[in-house]
Amino acid sequence: MTSSEDLSIVTRAAAELERLRKVPQHDGTSFPRACRKMMLSLPGNSRCVDCGNLNPDWASVSYGVLLCVRCSGRHRSYGVAKSRVRSISMDAWSHTQVLAMLEGGNEQLQSFFQRHQMGNTSIASSHRYHTKAAEFYRTHLDIHARKVGSCGLYGGRSQSRKKRSTEPKQTNSHKLEMNQQMASKTCREKQVHLLGIESRRQSITATQ
Ligand SMILES: [Zn+2]
Repeated sequence: MTSSEDLSIVTRAAAELERLRKVPQHDGTSFPRACRKMMLSLPGNSRCVDCGNLNPDWASVSYGVLLCVRCSGRHRSYGVAKSRVRSISMDAWSHTQVLAMLEGGNEQLQSFFQRHQMGNTSIASSHRYHTKAAEFYRTHLDIHARKVGSCGLYGGRSQSRKKRSTEPKQTNSHKLEMNQQMASKTCREKQVHLLGIESRRQSITATQ
């Protein structure tokens, strides 16, 4: 995210996340407005990740994806260990859950499944969430979201994926500069490491 408009959304989302951080985890709040706008702008998020229905309003936090109401019902049947379903409009959300939605995305998961020969077919969409590949994805997304949350003010997906050589002065936002300066080198190294979703996914065997 490099444009001034995108930066503005990231800054507002970061402020919302800081307010949400102070809310007890079990309480949560409605999905924050700027965070929602950011989430809806992610590639693939205008359609249900499983069936392609427009304007999905349900989510599987486990994978950071958006679902239509029909597919959300099927995900509930998988059990919370396989897919944790929430309503974007009606449920309360915690800091980590919102971060999972901002760091996930429908296209990202769909691409992951396609690399494991589990693309968007009716059979695959029911079965793929029970595979070891799916377990790998949801485990690492959860770890990644928690780590991003522990590293201070949110700077957007691009910052979460930057190499540690990135210089703080590359951004125009003073808030983001402060965040980057506060984030320890060790913390950033861990973030890069945990982005193994991107680098290690190809080594996972998609056995069922
Ligand atoms: Zn659907």
